[in-house]
Amino acid sequence: MQIPCTKDELLILEKIAFAARKMELPCYVIGGFVRDKIIGRPTKDIDIVCIGDGIELATQTAALFRAKPEVAVFKNFGTAQIKVDGLEIEFVGARKESYRSDSRKPEVEPGTLVDDQNRRDLTINALAISLNKEDYGQLLDPFDGLKDLEDKILRTPLDPARTFSDDPLRMLRTIRFATQLQYNILPETFESIKENAERIRIISAERIIDELNKIMMCKKPSVGFDLLYRSQLLHIIFPELAALSGAEYIDGKGHKDNFYHTIQVLDNICPHTQDIWLRWAALLHDIGKPATKRFEEGTGWTFHNHEWIGSKMVPGIFKRLKLPLNEKMKYVQKLVMLHLRPISLTKENITDSAVRRLLFDAGEDIEDLMMLCNADITSKNAAKVKRIKENFAMVSQKLIDVEAKDQIRNWQPPITGEIIMQTFNLTPSRLVGEIKDAVREAILDGVIRNDYDEAFAFMLKKAEELNVKPIL
Ligand code: ATP
Ligand code: MG
Repeated sequence: MQIPCTKDELLILEKIAFAARKMELPCYVIGGFVRDKIIGRPTKDIDIVCIGDGIELATQTAALFRAKPEVAVFKNFGTAQIKVDGLEIEFVGARKESYRSDSRKPEVEPGTLVDDQNRRDLTINALAISLNKEDYGQLLDPFDGLKDLEDKILRTPLDPARTFSDDPLRMLRTIRFATQLQYNILPETFESIKENAERIRIISAERIIDELNKIMMCKKPSVGFDLLYRSQLLHIIFPELAALSGAEYIDGKGHKDNFYHTIQVLDNICPHTQDIWLRWAALLHDIGKPATKRFEEGTGWTFHNHEWIGSKMVPGIFKRLKLPLNEKMKYVQKLVMLHLRPISLTKENITDSAVRRLLFDAGEDIEDLMMLCNADITSKNAAKVKRIKENFAMVSQKLIDVEAKDQIRNWQPPITGEIIMQTFNLTPSRLVGEIKDAVREAILDGVIRNDYDEAFAFMLKKAEELNVKPIL
């Protein structure tokens, strides 16, 4: 089969074939590389399987390159890798695997090409192309993977119950491919994911988050989250998100299904950003809703303080999912915390001081926050959407105007804690914080201008009120 390789890739494959022939090893290119070339997707790695010692084949192949790339050997897995021209080439001897129920680490023994194809997760990932002299370039496709590629169908090569139970990560991979490639999972295969969902518990958080993040970076991540929800995998790996689902009714009054709203918001933001953390903020913006949901007579359903509770939930979620506990997490917390603020501004007369406050609190993340709020408009009521969008445009303009006038973004109040401590001979204490906050608030409220002398005078006045004397 002719697959559209670059000249460099063809030269690499020929070198591998040459080395294998010298060693008299049958050898094939297999998996993601073959799949992606057939469907015209960019490829980043090449997987080679041979009937024999993959590590030795890697060593012999490396010797054929002028650059003499280093061979990275993973003894435990019986694999070896070399890097050439930015491409990672992975070598493995064909293997047969058998699994125990409590682990995804199989007992491995040498096998045939078909044994190796049997242990692959999906038919479209089991395609192999021969690099052997007698049939160089021939597609070896025992499970009709090519047809599944044409029909855009995901199915396992063997009985799905066995494939998924052997290595439950494959369930997540299947859902990830459904999202990335926009393919359909065969109903029987999906049923089997549902039946085996519990098995996901043996998979490490690191592997799970890898797949989740790949889903997050798709064009339409909602496809993946919907499948995770419907298979009940989500309930195990991300219960806080699953808890958003459902609409309750009391006295005929319901609320929207916050799970479907959330994944719609995530999709809405995707065309505007490739920043995974902004996407995470979209996914988590309403995560505090289940914990704050109340039914109030006369008002209906409320979710008071859900932004605050939600932002407090972020570190626990990040820790469990093994996401970074650093400034990226703080950024997500901040956006969750502030996600209602621009919309709440549209409900009243927009005062300069309210806009200054928002600029101050959001700082350099104001554009991202506005993007999140825009994505958060998912109402089906066209008149309502129109009204919100118009108000929203007004807030955006006001943000630009006030920023141009007052430069609050990235602003540091002119009176620092240092200045207060020196002026009043104070050591770090609550009193210092109180004076500092009062000066900042006075500027944000427009009581005084953003000016050092005015702020200094205000500081003296505030200190006097608090009975603090300056040193003369
Ligand atoms: P991507 O590189 O986009 O993540 P991929 O399918 O190429 O997707 P790799 O991790 O590069 O995934 O793996 C290469 C090949 O190895 C796959 O195409 C598949 O044949 C096989 N494979 C990977 N992980 C598994 C698994 N958990 N179970 C069975 N086969 C797997
Ligand atoms: Mg790959």
